Amino acid sequence: MCHPELPEECIVAAPPNLREEGRLRVLQVLLASSTTSRPELVRLTGLSRATVSVLVSDLIAAGLVVEENGASGAGGAGGSADAEIRSMGRPALPLALNRSVAYAIGADIGHAHVRVALCDVHGTPVWETSEAKEVDRAPHETLDLAADLVRRAMAENGVPRERVLGLGVGIAAPVDADGALSAEGIMPGWTGIRPGPELERRTGLATEMTNDANAGALAEHMYGAGRDVEDMVYIRLSAGIGAGVIAAGALQLGAGGLAGEIGHLPAVRDGLVCRCGNRGCLETIASPVAVARLLQDSWGEPVAPSDLPALLAAGTPGMARVVEDTGEAVGRALAALVTLLNPRLIVVGGDLAAIGEPLFEPLRRGIARSALPSAARQVAVVAGRLGSSAEVRGAAARVLARAAQTLAVMSGAEAAELLP
Ligand SMILES: [Zn+2]
Repeated sequence: MCHPELPEECIVAAPPNLREEGRLRVLQVLLASSTTSRPELVRLTGLSRATVSVLVSDLIAAGLVVEENGASGAGGAGGSADAEIRSMGRPALPLALNRSVAYAIGADIGHAHVRVALCDVHGTPVWETSEAKEVDRAPHETLDLAADLVRRAMAENGVPRERVLGLGVGIAAPVDADGALSAEGIMPGWTGIRPGPELERRTGLATEMTNDANAGALAEHMYGAGRDVEDMVYIRLSAGIGAGVIAAGALQLGAGGLAGEIGHLPAVRDGLVCRCGNRGCLETIASPVAVARLLQDSWGEPVAPSDLPALLAAGTPGMARVVEDTGEAVGRALAALVTLLNPRLIVVGGDLAAIGEPLFEPLRRGIARSALPSAARQVAVVAGRLGSSAEVRGAAARVLARAAQTLAVMSGAEAAELLP
């Protein structure tokens, strides 16, 4: 990574690896902010004005960085450095990374859908689509569909594969550090399938696998409701129930990628047999599928999980009670995490989050009733800000974490060749 003691004259002079080191520091700052300025780069990279000036000129010539004209001096909080540089006759023009210099594609493979987004270098989706799909018993069809949507993402946006840094995939099963699934009992048809290599073969893109709730946690932490919160839990209430834990700013995966599988905490004694093989797991009573099934049994007519928010809004008999029971059950399960981890924030995502306060209120009550009271008082429960895009954005963010390194080693010629 960075070498703060690096002699700057070496960066300005020829040796390419040292120049790369300087480019890396400049690119890291540019990736972390939408705009900056040369004085701000001097302050944040610890490099000299001369070095920053040369590196920025190179990056502009290569098309990686753009100088935003007509807003002189507005680009940063450079203060005296701004004034100093203006006195040299060089205005502190705002600088930004060329957003289309590189992309990452995020995919979310749930139990009942495949969603794909093309994200720019800052992680903002520029194109996104989702298709319903019964995923659990059809791994190869699902992977074909995902690859097809990835190809569409590039084709419909005129983005060549060479400008895509990689494919990040969030999937509704635990994923270990090597990208292998623990699909047994979670996604029954996927045992023994390695989606990463399968998707690499189908798309030609380097593929990084992660669990979907972990991807959602990362996205809400980086771009959504959990920005600037170092200790948070993201819970996804969808066809499956999963959680992602951020502790001291880092995603917690556990030894085998199983951390956060809150849907399989016991919620009722002698309840239904869960797909994991245990009985009475939270998922058997609080997933949208379980809630819809409960109503279906009572009404004797089909209820789709996606109908639930509208049924509640319409005041359908039984709905308020079901939502209340669900919220309390989820709250009791979350209480265990609140007591163990002492998070500042719980972000609720997934299909059921659309219900909002009628669900959150009993959920908070469940936490208050079962968690250590002081830990319960310190945690806030809010809805996710990214909606159903959280998982694709987090999956793409895993790929974009390597963006500065990749861009720093591209020679000027390579970059110029790649860019329109
Ligand atoms: Zn279970």
